[in-house]
Amino acid sequence: MRACIPSYDLRVPGSLSEALALLGREPGTWQPFAGGTDLMVLLEAGKLGHKKFFSMAKLDDLRGIVVAGDSVTIGALTTYSEIQKHPLLQAEFPLLCAAARETGSIATQNRGTLGGNIINASPAADSPPALLVYDAEIELISERRVHWVPYHGFHTGYKKMQIAPEELLRAVRLPCRFKPWRQYYRKVGTRKAQAISKVCFAGAALLENGAIRDVRIALGSVAPIVLRAAKTEDALRGAAIAAATTATAREMLAREIAPIDDIRSTARYRLRVAQNLLAEFFAGLAK
Ligand SMILES: Cc1cc2nc3c(=O)[nH]c(=O)nc-3n(C[C@H](O)[C@H](O)[C@H](O)COP(=O)(O)OP(=O)(O)OC[C@H]3O[C@@H](n4cnc5c(N)ncnc54)[C@H](O)[C@@H]3O)c2cc1C
Repeated sequence: MRACIPSYDLRVPGSLSEALALLGREPGTWQPFAGGTDLMVLLEAGKLGHKKFFSMAKLDDLRGIVVAGDSVTIGALTTYSEIQKHPLLQAEFPLLCAAARETGSIATQNRGTLGGNIINASPAADSPPALLVYDAEIELISERRVHWVPYHGFHTGYKKMQIAPEELLRAVRLPCRFKPWRQYYRKVGTRKAQAISKVCFAGAALLENGAIRDVRIALGSVAPIVLRAAKTEDALRGAAIAAATTATAREMLAREIAPIDDIRSTARYRLRVAQNLLAEFFAGLAK
């Protein structure tokens, strides 16, 4: 352990209102600690600059998966293991369950939370592509207000997002309208397990008479934020599922993603893999 533990402070609020009061009194001073799977890596490496944290362990208002009407609400503290086990999520949101299955190891899945994945804001995170495809909304809460915002647009740049220092992410809401859509999720990393994505692809298409009535595509690790490939989607809406469509889509995708060279991969490899995953998604639609 390279960090000096006594230099850190950890509070344990007993309720959501206590946690929000702490955040409200000194905005930016106290940072939430959820599963700790991102924070503990930084702590161990001696790179956790922020010193004051509060545990979310007793914030039961941020737990649970609730199905109500035509949507499902997932508490920010829901773990990947809980996501995978939930029957409605398995039936309606296979992309999110696949992302949960592909995240780290079982130990990470037991501790890591959906809320932590969103707020950690890694462009290589595995659940955001699924959330973008599903048109997720997120609930932000402070002592002053509670509001729902579209997840699309929440991340505005590398590790930048639209959350105030006194706010917590309380929940994620998904509309239950994607069951009839054909869905595809694939993460490509160095190995099958415990790998950070080189490219992560989530896609869903609604088919009608051999054509694509609607399509949604999102990718991770190909830009400073996880993004929707909106122009590629536009080019595909209404098109027939044919080889030509795949070629056009590959070209369009190359224009709208901006992969980089880094320690995990090269821009060239990432672009080629992203295009190949798009083609695989299409090949599946033709079956
Ligand atoms: C071995 C290992 C493997 C991993 N593999 C993957 C992987 O394959 N794919 C992947 O995407 N990630 C992976 N991760 C990263 C990590 O597990 C996820 O990002 C996880 O979802 C983080 O959740 P957490 O609850 O542990 O967050 P924490 O570490 O507790 O917090 C992360 C950040 O989010 C903030 N935060 C947490 N919850 C809230 C909230 N409700 N409101 C406001 N702010 C909040 C914290 O203050 C902190 O800034 C891996 C991590 C490890 C250690």
